[in-house]
Amino acid sequence: MPDLDLLVTAGRVLDPARELDRVADVAVREGRIVEISPGIDRARARQLVDASGAIVAPGIVDLHTHVLGGVLDSCADADEVGVASGVTTVIDAGSAGPSTIGAFPRWIIPNRRTRIVPFLHIAQTGLATRPDVAAASDIDFDLVERALAEHEGLIGGLKLRMVNPALRIFGLEMLRRATQIAHDAGLPVMVHVGDLLDQADDELGRQTLELLGPGDIVTHVFTPHPGGVLDARGRVLPEAFAASERGVLFDAAHGRQNLSFAVLRAVTDQGLPLTAISTDISAAGRRAVVFTMTEVMSRYLGLGFELREVIELSTAKPAAAARLADAGSLLAGGVADISILDIIPGRWEAQDAVGARLPLDRLIVPRATVRAGELIAPGPGPHPQGWLPDSFRAS
Ligand SMILES: [Zn+2]
Repeated sequence: MPDLDLLVTAGRVLDPARELDRVADVAVREGRIVEISPGIDRARARQLVDASGAIVAPGIVDLHTHVLGGVLDSCADADEVGVASGVTTVIDAGSAGPSTIGAFPRWIIPNRRTRIVPFLHIAQTGLATRPDVAAASDIDFDLVERALAEHEGLIGGLKLRMVNPALRIFGLEMLRRATQIAHDAGLPVMVHVGDLLDQADDELGRQTLELLGPGDIVTHVFTPHPGGVLDARGRVLPEAFAASERGVLFDAAHGRQNLSFAVLRAVTDQGLPLTAISTDISAAGRRAVVFTMTEVMSRYLGLGFELREVIELSTAKPAAAARLADAGSLLAGGVADISILDIIPGRWEAQDAVGARLPLDRLIVPRATVRAGELIAPGPGPHPQGWLPDSFRAS
């Protein structure tokens, strides 16, 4: 008589948070992992998933996405970039503000299988307009506080963008108020940096870093634009190291415009710790530059990161940054969120947000996803030919 709902068999179980790296089976019952060990009797399971030759990782957590698709046409569909792409949890990085956040519990979350944790944009209607803040009336901090109270337990943090014209209108006061409100509610702020194309000095970047506290998140840390964590000479700002020591977290958030491989190398070579590999995926990012979380993860392999590190930066660390105690690790008794991943050898090239090329000799591709015990097959992939990007083009 089968007593297991699902058995993921013979994969390489790689869970950096628990220092687990061995071939084993993962048994699932009633949405939870009940056992991880080799040689679990196949006859006990109602459903088998063959993971031989694959990596069995904790469910991938993408710390920066835009998944208000169906409400905002600039956003991606949560399941398309989530469970159908090997990702079990997505953090929405402020697609919705106080006037639009209700769409998540009312329309999006009940109709999607991917776990969705929205961060609240401080601008009234989030990313419904561009720019998000065009006038002083676009931010009402009382409404921000009220939305946090009304959606307690749903909202994971506050999001704001240190960009113009918002900065010309509010200055650093915008960040001060947001940080205070978030911290009073026991939540982190996520701060978008590095879009100050019209501001050549790095003073604002320094001041931003100084205002952040433990658990706050700097997103787009590898931005090629001014206002990031590098000074004009390419050195990591001392304020960034000091912030990191205070517990401020640094998120990559690739996006179509916000990650340069050269900046990534410069920042990581100088030793600033990274918290998360994330996509900043949107409807347009799904079609160009970004494509998928697993493809973005593959770029870090191409940049010389170890597989273990890439998995940790896509599971345990972003889960901790989003303060999700029940995600990021494969734990007996824990929620059965599992990403089963193939690593395919070949020759491809990736491009960053400024068009720099990076050769890839391995590609991470989803084989199957388990979300709260439910087995989900990958979608068709983001490219015309599926999951594998264009073949390597000799330059
Ligand atoms: Zn974003």
